[in-house]
Amino acid sequence: MTVRYADFRDIAITDFDAVVVGSGFAGAVAARELAEQAALNVLIIEKRDHIAGNMYDEYDAAGILVHRYGPHIFHTNSQEVFDYLNRFSAWSAYQHRVLADWYGTYLPVPVNKSSLEIAFGDEKAARLIEKLIATFGDERKVTLNELRAQADPELAEVADFVYENVFLYYTQKQWGLTPEEVDPSVTARVPVFISRDDRYFQDTYQGMPEEGYTRLFENLLGHERITVCLETEAESVFELVFESGAEDAPLQAIRIKDEDFEGPIVYTGPLDELFLARFGRLPYRSLDFVYETYDENYHLPCGTVNYTVTEDYTRITEFKWLTGQTGSKTTIMKEYPRSYDDPATQIPYYAIIDDDNDARYERYRRLTDALPNFYPLGRLAQYRYFNMDKVVVDALAASRRIMFRLDHPDAP
Ligand code: FAD
Repeated sequence: MTVRYADFRDIAITDFDAVVVGSGFAGAVAARELAEQAALNVLIIEKRDHIAGNMYDEYDAAGILVHRYGPHIFHTNSQEVFDYLNRFSAWSAYQHRVLADWYGTYLPVPVNKSSLEIAFGDEKAARLIEKLIATFGDERKVTLNELRAQADPELAEVADFVYENVFLYYTQKQWGLTPEEVDPSVTARVPVFISRDDRYFQDTYQGMPEEGYTRLFENLLGHERITVCLETEAESVFELVFESGAEDAPLQAIRIKDEDFEGPIVYTGPLDELFLARFGRLPYRSLDFVYETYDENYHLPCGTVNYTVTEDYTRITEFKWLTGQTGSKTTIMKEYPRSYDDPATQIPYYAIIDDDNDARYERYRRLTDALPNFYPLGRLAQYRYFNMDKVVVDALAASRRIMFRLDHPDAP
């Protein structure tokens, strides 16, 4: 079934049992479950002019399928998620590979045995690999901190090499930091893989939807009980009713088209936007994407090249590697990290998580606690970075919770 679209001005809110804000994986999976499992009529409010959230893909002028909000590669260890998504798309068996451009030489990322050979030469690398295996075992992932904790200075040298040539400048660009500001706890977790496995992810299930993500979302949302209103912003159609006029007064009800809406409201947008940033904005790191099309079969040697010591952009992705598309043209995308305040790129990509921002987020979330039919869900509403599989599994669990509450209105 095709997606049923409507103009928000034309709908009667009394025709709907549930409202979902946002049509990324969080919103779309919740909407599908509530429509299919609980036979609820679900209204989706989406502020963009398309469905599929940040997974949205489209064909560019050269006929290449590109991702508009950053490259998305599906990977999961959850059989539940993989089985669920298989209902809405066939999948190609893509395994992502990433190389670091190290002054014009390519190193596999995460750094592995082959990277060490390229960086240190065969003889020294053989010695380092022998020491790594003797210390940690073969086929293990070890962190820079674990390497630095060893007495052998050559293992610390490996850690220093990876830190300076693969991690530091990339991270500085990504987050707009000076070297001193780079968080040591993140550095500690950077891995070295004592292996020849050069796949970026090692999850059981990996791949790409055969006809693209947008088609997957069309199948997910193509249900007779789901209606989608595009270009509709929650804050412009919700009337928030608070317990009092105090700044921290909890939300008591949400009115839509002059009706108190008492069915479940699944909200997957940023909470600060809903409350018109009354406690200040929740900050994000943003991105600017620059696309280039070439008359070549392939422009890069693999799906993504990270620029870890040079360039202003962090990485380039070539979509044909991801999608398996063939043809004589190719499109690549360069990612330039930007401030969220940059007027050109005010899209929230990566939550900037620290104690202050977490506290501000909690303040927003507490406003919604008292409203029993309000469910914040997904990477924006929870102010976290989540991979797609985590969002799908959370949306399935939230839908079960909502249905349980509908069946047991008196349960705590
Ligand atoms: P979103 O996809 O952002 O969907 C939220 C939707 O809500 C959007 O459509 C938005 O327009 C809408 N919305 C927001 N506010 C409002 C409002 N006020 N009113 C109405 N609508 C609203 N994960 C992976 O597993 N693999 C990857 O390779 C991967 N690559 C990534 C690359 C980048 C650059 C980034 C930033 C993330 C990547 N992710 C990846 C994570 C992935 O994007 C998220 O897991 C996914 O987007 C979460 O879905 P969501 O529904 O929570 O949010």
